[in-house]
Amino acid sequence: LERFDVDRVRKDFPILTRTVNGKPLVYLDNGATTQKPQQVIDAIVDYYTQLNSNVHRGVHHLSQLATDAFEVTRRKLRPFLNAAYEHEIIFTKGTTEAINLVASCYGKAFVNAGDEIVISAMEHHSNIVPWQMLCEEQGAILKVIPINEAGELDMDVYQATVGSRTKMVAITYVSNALGTINPVKEIIDVAHAAGAPVLLDAAQAVQHLPVDVQALDVDFLAFSGHKVYGPTGIGVLYGKEKWLNAMPPYQGGGEMIKEVSFAQTTYNELPFKYEAGTPNIEAGVCLAHAVDYLTAIGLDQIARHEQELLDYATERLLSIPGIRIVGTAKQKSSVVSFLLGGVHPYDVGVILDKLGIAVRTGHHCTQPLMDRYGIPGTVRASIAMYNTKEDIDALVAGVERAAAMLL
Ligand code: PMP
Repeated sequence: LERFDVDRVRKDFPILTRTVNGKPLVYLDNGATTQKPQQVIDAIVDYYTQLNSNVHRGVHHLSQLATDAFEVTRRKLRPFLNAAYEHEIIFTKGTTEAINLVASCYGKAFVNAGDEIVISAMEHHSNIVPWQMLCEEQGAILKVIPINEAGELDMDVYQATVGSRTKMVAITYVSNALGTINPVKEIIDVAHAAGAPVLLDAAQAVQHLPVDVQALDVDFLAFSGHKVYGPTGIGVLYGKEKWLNAMPPYQGGGEMIKEVSFAQTTYNELPFKYEAGTPNIEAGVCLAHAVDYLTAIGLDQIARHEQELLDYATERLLSIPGIRIVGTAKQKSSVVSFLLGGVHPYDVGVILDKLGIAVRTGHHCTQPLMDRYGIPGTVRASIAMYNTKEDIDALVAGVERAAAMLL
């Protein structure tokens, strides 16, 4: 695609032509999961009709084909993230498992009583709870960087917090609830100056903006296949080789071993050391097609289109009396979270659903963030590359209708 052509993109997503409650589907719940292009759907069918076999173990033809296809994905993810080595790409079930892996393995190797783990007030539960569990286990201390009313990190507090006791900084790249894009390069530089590694939760980043792990010099980065137009049940942990080599394995089992005897087991090399058991082969194979799709269109193009829609949605929603947008950071991506007067977000969501408009309502797995604002939750519209101005117009008309009924 030369120029970004949203009509052409939409033709690749068959689900977008269906109706919901008798209305054309307007899908604005992309932060929860994205729809899949025909290329990914075809790849799933193709996998089960042509390749299905277990990976990394068979001498037979199908097993080699399945292994090759699975490893093609790893090969494509390296330049997608600009990782230095393919073996720095570890397959997981998703972002959640990737973060749990780091909290567990890095924690065992490097975190002791009195050490500090730094997170932020806008983290998803999956980038809070694993660290809390680690802190409890090791007697370490969880430090939380506050945000301002706009939903931006307080970088002065951050600077003052990170120090010689900091053993990990784990921060989201883009907030799933507010849309804030955090100043990750600065965050990483400050952490490194104090000798601490950084994990970025990129679950809401890699599908919206170009990410270069070497330029960022980030130590760990996690994302989920299902949020980047790929299958569910596969995710990626990028980790710098030096950390992945220095940490113990996550789970024990097949694939992650070199030699097993009852006296002693030696572990496999990277990346297999962290990939115990049969992986989600189908999802792993098909994630390559999602990466191809994103790469062919280009993340710069996608970012520009989504930014236009975000600005348009923000401006139009603000014209509705009684609307309050939660999260007004200067740097935002793809998310508009809002409240309508004193109406419960759920009630707005139900009316929008009747109109065929899919949004998410509630706390978005960020309860501490909602507490920070003193609200139970928000209505969240989250944008993907296939959304249009017409989708935003439908959302605005739906919210106006909800306002007329509920305010
Ligand atoms: N982090 C963020 C910022 C997210 O938005 C999500 C998904 N909502 C996750 C982590 C967890 O991803 P998954 O459920 O795919 O593991």
